[in-house]
Amino acid sequence: MTTKFVELTWKEFEEQFKPIKNHLVSDPDQLMFETYGDEVEFVISKITERKVWTYADGDYCTYVSNGYHYINRIGYYVCEVPYEEDVEYQIITSTEEQCECYDEDREDNDGEYGDPNCQECEGYGMITRYAD
Ligand SMILES: [Zn+2]
Repeated sequence: MTTKFVELTWKEFEEQFKPIKNHLVSDPDQLMFETYGDEVEFVISKITERKVWTYADGDYCTYVSNGYHYINRIGYYVCEVPYEEDVEYQIITSTEEQCECYDEDREDNDGEYGDPNCQECEGYGMITRYAD
């Protein structure tokens, strides 16, 4: 069986797989499920239906991929529509880019490489850009 790799935008992901709302939290619009307690228990109950997606922290980005993954996880999504077995999906939700003030020789005590007076990144040295 060969695995197909498909990149989707968040919008395409929502349209194709229809992530459900998290009924376990008070915020009626929240989609993400936490990695502990009742929320992750609900997520785990949906794994075999191929309806679980993992929101994770990558190298200089955050992304969502199909399946239940543990490493670097931030949270989970549960979808109405199951994904196909032999396809690996990836949705990039944000990326980190070096700010104009980034200087690798400047690492200060808190491990940041930016100019503390920079308006863009406030000294972090990186800027997070969220995908639409
Ligand atoms: Zn900056």
